[in-house]
Amino acid sequence: MTTSPTVPGSTFVRKDCVVDGRSVPFFRFARLQAQPTLSHGVFTRRGGVSRPPFRSLNVGSRTSDRPSSVRANLERIRRVLGAGELIFLEQAHSRELVSIRRGEADRLREPVEADGLITDTPGLGLVIKQADCQAVILFDPVRRVVANVHCGWRGSVANILGAAVERMKREFGCSPGDLLAAVGPSLGPCCGEFKGYKEIFPRAFRAFMVRPDHFDLWALSGAQLAAAGVNPSSVMFARVCTRCRTDLFFSYRGEGDTGRFATVAMITDFGFRIS
Ligand SMILES: [Zn+2]
Repeated sequence: MTTSPTVPGSTFVRKDCVVDGRSVPFFRFARLQAQPTLSHGVFTRRGGVSRPPFRSLNVGSRTSDRPSSVRANLERIRRVLGAGELIFLEQAHSRELVSIRRGEADRLREPVEADGLITDTPGLGLVIKQADCQAVILFDPVRRVVANVHCGWRGSVANILGAAVERMKREFGCSPGDLLAAVGPSLGPCCGEFKGYKEIFPRAFRAFMVRPDHFDLWALSGAQLAAAGVNPSSVMFARVCTRCRTDLFFSYRGEGDTGRFATVAMITDFGFRIS
């Protein structure tokens, strides 16, 4: 595996792993990578088997891509992370979260409708599929609990990030002040245009309007996490806009009929992780 920073001093680091003789690039947040009981990866659109417009590491099963290609891509991702299995949802832009305790993974064999996964079980790769929406990883290194949350603008309106922190607190005994949070590649303030914002956004979101009709949804997520008790210095941002970087990521706004890329987070057995 090789490592090269995307830009000097960046905390969002590119890596490459060879699977089946083919290089699969992915990114990691440096501070999350330093955690001995967490493995994670922000995968790109590269290194898979799908054909255009899904070229090539598409994980969106509700696209018109071939199901066998999507399965092959997911298997490649599973092998890169060394996950026992991958768990995913029927994402619905909701405020629903699903927690999986040890031995409960079976009930998610058929994906359920929700937008966040939480677990304390090693070996389960929690997958969020995205093409402009955020995937936000929340990790508690004290209780060894991880969440992966799908948050588009509807998720922001519903404050699913606040709901995720609350659920980690209530169900797993996490203290918000212990959490590390990472907001991955997604629609940036450069491209976050919402012409109908007066109808869809609460008035308070106007604090995040950076120019007419444009919103900084990264800053909004940071504010929602802070309001939920997460220390602002513990929140990381990839600061990569998917619409600007369709060479690396799928973008619904940029491309329309396109694939979904994957962000995966997994608790590892104590002391084990891939380098
Ligand atoms: Zn952009």
